[in-house]
Amino acid sequence: MVLYLDYNATTPLHPAVLDQMIAVYRDNYGNAGSRTHVYGERASAAVELARTQVASTLGVDKSEVIFTSGATESDNLALLGLAAWGWEHGRRHIVSTPIEHKAVLEPLAYLSSKGFDVELAPVGVGGRVRAEDVLARVRRDTLLVSVMHANNETGVVQPVHEIGAALKSTNTYFHVDAAQTFGKLVPELRKLDYDLLSLSGHKIRGPQGIGALVVRKRGYQRPPLQPLTYGGGQEGRLRPGTVPVALVAGLGAAAEIAVAEANHWRSACQAIKDSVLRQLEQVEHYVNGDLVSSMPNCLNVSFPGIDSEALMLALRGELAVSNGSACTSADYRPSHVLEAMKLDDRRLSSAIRLSWGSGDTDGPSLTPLVTAVMALR
Ligand code: PLP
Repeated sequence: MVLYLDYNATTPLHPAVLDQMIAVYRDNYGNAGSRTHVYGERASAAVELARTQVASTLGVDKSEVIFTSGATESDNLALLGLAAWGWEHGRRHIVSTPIEHKAVLEPLAYLSSKGFDVELAPVGVGGRVRAEDVLARVRRDTLLVSVMHANNETGVVQPVHEIGAALKSTNTYFHVDAAQTFGKLVPELRKLDYDLLSLSGHKIRGPQGIGALVVRKRGYQRPPLQPLTYGGGQEGRLRPGTVPVALVAGLGAAAEIAVAEANHWRSACQAIKDSVLRQLEQVEHYVNGDLVSSMPNCLNVSFPGIDSEALMLALRGELAVSNGSACTSADYRPSHVLEAMKLDDRRLSSAIRLSWGSGDTDGPSLTPLVTAVMALR
């Protein structure tokens, strides 16, 4: 059995979530948009329950939750949807960071090619951007600041609370990609000030292909987003198309379970991290990313002198790990996140990411990893 240590890429579906989804597929197959019969009413009730579950995870109003296909779509809707309005109103400046997920960086590159002025604040060697470096770039015409909550490759938590608090009294909108923290850093997210927040189901043992964009109101007004697709009035006219009831119900159930288990998740994951760090002491290594402000469920580590591709090949039959974000691991370019941290080539080419859930609190045995590192040296 290959030990799965790639939870930041995706997580195994929670059995209770699967049961919930099967029940919907089997018994609740109406279209949530059908108003003329009980099948539609039941489907709509399941969708609204899930909306309440997601909203209460974040402490927001349920009308602020827009279901999408995942964090990639949410990021695109946030950035491109707001940019359409910004362009018309002469607000063409956007501030972000170079360590964002490609689901943010690529829409930003597109906007830049269309005439937006996109500025990326630098990150330090610890993988953290400084709030002051972001805020110093905000100008009168800054439409949007987009900063992720925790980085998916290093787990480093970014200073979104300071940034959100400072932007609250300005007319600049704040988008947070919380794909790696939704349902995990529960109290932190409830206290956060933001206008737009992206989340995903499959990072919290929910199904793949479902997520949400949270669109917060300031007073009674929500940010002036324009939809990216047209064709129906669903999801507040922001995301037309038949709502996938079973996926939405799965996301709602996963969110509720994640909240109930959040304290246990945090302490169990931290215990695993301590165990991982102890086991790695047997071989020369560098931890990539500041350990002080990082998620308890992952570790990015380099073994200088070893090629990460060769290491992963050696581990193939025993450990499932990654050397970049899942979406880009098909090509072997060094991670843009580690590059932005200005790590030297030896660290860049030998970095792997281990990420886990709260299951095995004794910590996974890293003997295969330690043995492979020793053999490859
Ligand atoms: N943003 C971050 C920070 C992520 O880690 C991911 C997934 O790896 C995404 C966005 C994309 O999420 P999804 O797979 O739901 O589209």
